[in-house]
Amino acid sequence: MSDTLFSKIINREIPADILYEDDQALAFSDINPQAPVHFLVIPKKPIATINDIEPEDREVIGHLYLVAAKLAKEMGFAEEGYRAVMNCNPYGGQTVYHIHLHVLAGKPMGWPPYQETLKTP
Ligand code: 5GP
Repeated sequence: MSDTLFSKIINREIPADILYEDDQALAFSDINPQAPVHFLVIPKKPIATINDIEPEDREVIGHLYLVAAKLAKEMGFAEEGYRAVMNCNPYGGQTVYHIHLHVLAGKPMGWPPYQETLKTP
């Protein structure tokens, strides 16, 4: 799989505001925040999209949610609530092809998310 800019963040080749790291995952602030709190939790393993998750990736994918919940508690927004979402491919809004869990918090969010933007080519 080709290197994405998230591999470069893992390898410290480009800077990021790193919030958490362990042997399987990294969490860092999104460069273009869409909420008062917006960070990404990524696996160190470079999996391109949700469609590329293999059975052996079960543990690491579950681990991303555990990291999200741990940071939510530590950062003080767990009870208030937040959104943890992974985009897949163009219609899902994915732009970086190394899977990442977006964690957004700090304001109430609407649902469904496509209400304002639904456009078919
Ligand atoms: P996607 O659109 O693939 O679901 O999300 C990619 C996210 O990565 C976007 O929210 C975007 O702002 C963020 N992003 C893109 N480039 C960088 C970067 O160089 N550093 C950081 N911290 N975030 C980035």
